Amino acid sequence: MMKILEDRIRQDGTVLTGNVLKVDNFLNHQVDPQLMNELGQEFARRFQDAHITKILTVESSGIAPAVMAGLHLNVPVIFARKHKSLTLTDNLYTAKVYSYTKQVTNEISIDRRFLAADDRVLIIDDFLANGQAVQGLLDIAKTAQITVAGVGVVIEKRFQKGHQMVTDAGIQLEALASIASFEAGQVIFAQD
Ligand code: 5GP
Repeated sequence: MMKILEDRIRQDGTVLTGNVLKVDNFLNHQVDPQLMNELGQEFARRFQDAHITKILTVESSGIAPAVMAGLHLNVPVIFARKHKSLTLTDNLYTAKVYSYTKQVTNEISIDRRFLAADDRVLIIDDFLANGQAVQGLLDIAKTAQITVAGVGVVIEKRFQKGHQMVTDAGIQLEALASIASFEAGQVIFAQD
């Protein structure tokens, strides 16, 4: 656990219906660069021996923490796009991802030329809930035949399916804040 992050969640987070934690004043709408830098440093510390060559995330909320992790691990960061752009050609890896908060399915894509078979990637995202976003990136990694050396999330909701899914796959999972439950609008953090 990271005390400054837990304190910030207690101070600025609000619990919405549907087990959604709103943290849009420091993480995924307004962004606190100093906090992101500390999160990036912590990810780098936890994965320093994992021989990471690249970081993968999904736009848009994963980008800020992923870039900071990339800065401290000194590796490039690739974000999967949710919308096809005219500049994206057909040379893509794609996967379908059901969005927890938006309740729509997006096709995410990464240009093939940014992944090489000898890459060891670290997947970073803002939240881990049911694991759909991470699963989409795992699907792409599998198609691209690259190794996933770890998954790092800023906040995991441990009571949802994603935590189990990633650990069952034998992948090192690091959550900088781990939420055990929401009780009466309060965040209860896991005790380890
Ligand atoms: P999953 O794919 O693991 O089910 O959900 C993770 C994705 O949904 C994250 O990329 C994040 O954008 C969004 N998400 C899931 N749970 C929450 C939440 O409690 N609060 C916010 N703000 N986003 C969430």
